[in-house]
Amino acid sequence: MSLVHRDGGGALHIEDVALDAVARQFGTPCYVYSRAALTAAYDGYRQALAGRDALVCYAVKANSNLGILDVFARLGAGFDIVSGGELARVLAAGGDPARVVFSGVGKSRAEMRAALAAGILCFNVESAAELETLDDVAGSLGKRAPISLRVNPNVDPKTHPYISTGLKSAKFGIPFEEALPLYRRARDLPHLEIRGIDCHIGSQLLDPAPAAEAAAKILGLVDALAGEGIALSHIDVGGGMGIRYRDEAAPTASEYLAPLLAVLAGRKEKLLFEPGRSLVGNAGLLLTRVEVIKHGAEKNFAVVDAAMNDLARPALYEAWHDIVPVKKVGAGDTAAETRRYEIVGPICESGDFLGHGRELALASGDLLAILSAGAYGMAMSSNYNTRPRAAEVLVDGATTHLVRRREEVAQLFALESVLPRP
Ligand SMILES: *Cc1c(COP(=O)(O)O)cnc(C)c1O
Repeated sequence: MSLVHRDGGGALHIEDVALDAVARQFGTPCYVYSRAALTAAYDGYRQALAGRDALVCYAVKANSNLGILDVFARLGAGFDIVSGGELARVLAAGGDPARVVFSGVGKSRAEMRAALAAGILCFNVESAAELETLDDVAGSLGKRAPISLRVNPNVDPKTHPYISTGLKSAKFGIPFEEALPLYRRARDLPHLEIRGIDCHIGSQLLDPAPAAEAAAKILGLVDALAGEGIALSHIDVGGGMGIRYRDEAAPTASEYLAPLLAVLAGRKEKLLFEPGRSLVGNAGLLLTRVEVIKHGAEKNFAVVDAAMNDLARPALYEAWHDIVPVKKVGAGDTAAETRRYEIVGPICESGDFLGHGRELALASGDLLAILSAGAYGMAMSSNYNTRPRAAEVLVDGATTHLVRRREEVAQLFALESVLPRP
């Protein structure tokens, strides 16, 4: 399912809403999401997992807007969080704490207390030190903390090194060889309750084989634990399924999960998944307006009102996002000719680009849609250059919901102060 489509006149729409109307009403830059696309992505997992005892825990860090969390909470999703802040968001959006798993290499005591008080499903513990601290914190609250160990299966996911997490060299997870002794230690700690096992090997994975290989290694461990009388009630295989940004042969959820489910066939443990990108990435776009056209000596630049502070992925990973005009090509008031453009933001950094060498017919004032921006877009945005963060709009049929107001400049330094005056 494509996120956007054109009406008879060639105007770009998301569901039943014209994007130029969104820009007029809410301004630019503006993230626009589709409830139908979010639901379709979640349904992809639901269908792939039909007949299995499974829980899909949306990885909140991909896009933590309350409106998006609300959509998934209503669909019955669980959530994978990596901070106390994300826990607060899930609770504020009406998410069920009993379906929350807490990942992350550096949980603070305060975050542990908040998660224990909320009654989350499981802590995905990433080190021996965290295990001891969690036992201590749980004891001080008179509770037992439900735990999984996040095991590092040492599998190469063959993705970008910045989003590869399952290799021996990564900071994530517990080395495979240390997992068994650490489970024994967890069994002996009085304020812990062993629930499951967890792994997550990386992101934007297009080939399902590494995830299946990781699951097979994890299963070996599950059986070894059972042999010692440590029974697990769930197996969490993480997230990471890739999406199509350009021309990648991205798998459907069924295709991606099939080899993994084959490995896990006949298991009695509940299966947990932590997808982020694949649930939201292609359900959102970034709407931006061309401010200035510059025809340089060697290159043509279209300076737009969105920048690397709004969408960091191109600057950070040289990621490619499709960029399409909101008006039909050639339907502009000015009969602009098609040229190769560098699509850049106004930030004072040469790395501030959103797309290189795009063949477009552009005039200042034109609207552009930067596609596949629903994941790690707004979530990684910043206020660099004192730029207020974009508005966010969730489209549902013919209705638009403003799910985050555009920031105002005064808010950006409201917590700051000048030095005292004599
Ligand atoms: C980031 C992350 C995910 C989600 O990864 P995607 O590639 O967005 O699916 C899941 N689990 C953990 C532990 C993560 O850090």
